Amino acid sequence: MPFSYLADELKQRDADGLLRHRRMLESPQGARVRVDGADLLSFCSNDYLGLANHPALIEAACRGAQQFGVGAGASHLVTGHTLAHHQLEQSLAAFFGMPAALLFSTGYMANLGVVTALLGRNDAIFADKLNHASLNDAALLSRAHFKRYAHLDLSALEGQLAASSARRKLVVSDAVFSMDGDLAPVPQLLALCEKYDAWLLLDDAHGFGMLGQTGRGILEHFGMLLDLLTPHPSPLTSRIIYMATLGKAAGVSGAFVAGSQELIDGLVQNARTYIYTTATPPMLSVALQESLRIIAAEDWRRERLAQLIAHLRDGLKMQRWQRMPSETPIQPLLIGSSKEAVAVSLALQKKGILVPAIRPPTVPQGTARLRISLSASHCKEDVEMLVDALHLLERQ
Ligand SMILES: *Cc1c(COP(=O)(O)O)cnc(C)c1O
Repeated sequence: MPFSYLADELKQRDADGLLRHRRMLESPQGARVRVDGADLLSFCSNDYLGLANHPALIEAACRGAQQFGVGAGASHLVTGHTLAHHQLEQSLAAFFGMPAALLFSTGYMANLGVVTALLGRNDAIFADKLNHASLNDAALLSRAHFKRYAHLDLSALEGQLAASSARRKLVVSDAVFSMDGDLAPVPQLLALCEKYDAWLLLDDAHGFGMLGQTGRGILEHFGMLLDLLTPHPSPLTSRIIYMATLGKAAGVSGAFVAGSQELIDGLVQNARTYIYTTATPPMLSVALQESLRIIAAEDWRRERLAQLIAHLRDGLKMQRWQRMPSETPIQPLLIGSSKEAVAVSLALQKKGILVPAIRPPTVPQGTARLRISLSASHCKEDVEMLVDALHLLERQ
């Protein structure tokens, strides 16, 4: 039986409480979703601003489909690059005040494409241990030396940079860590990159749209976008490769990279995940123009999120289970054992509340957790319902 080893592995996974199941949504994404015939209050999505089912985006997608059809029909370098993609790239670059931007089909592909285009065997990559899987896979695929430093440990990173004699050096970091919700110390990372002549790839999948007064993400959060207004070539665009996804706060799908013109021109020539794949449906780019407009115009969504985050953190002062130090809509509750995390998640679901249990290998051994994620489409009462349910369960 050629696949019997898979069956054995599945049994073992199940016994360890690590078997993964797919839930099936029968409704659009939102604070309330229909799953397996039940209506549930959901704290599961990355739709932080509540845009995934926004009428203006749906209308724009329909308009886009009328104008461009549903499929791009070719890769960008053949004939799949439409006016809709091009205008979105220009809007994204302008939004960040960056010279240029390039669209990718997914964040996973953007990370693979950027890292493999820029680095090879004689180069080195320095990565935070808690980075997203796509950044790790990108590093392996590039064949560069791959060094990982303990989470947020700047002195470990500096030691590795100082010891390296690689031709090119790239520091890569999640901007907002996807399973912890904490932030990378970007100004300090940039300073180290200047000191050791390295580039900095920032993956702002969870920050774009959500962080910063106007949703311009981690660079706005740290007041760094102002650097772009200085007359000299800015360290920001000569060192930083800014990447963010369009399927989280932006509510649609895809990703982009923004930076210097040379960087973007080089990626068009060399990024294999850009070149050898069909362009995304242009209608998505039309919808994304609308989400950019809403991200910039509707501060109330970020203000609402901030209130919900504070409300949740105030409420979740627990005994056995620990909040983690996060100021973002990603609010993990550390449980520890995988089995207990799954049991709590199931017990919540019985009460009509959906919160995913995140287990190894997605997170380190012994740190299984509930990953509560908040959205501007939640209200205060939703958060209170979750807090009350968790307090009841902790006492059982
Ligand atoms: C979600 C995510 C990605 C992948 O983006 P997709 O568009 O979903 O492929 C990459 N990096 C981080 C940090 C993410 O959270």
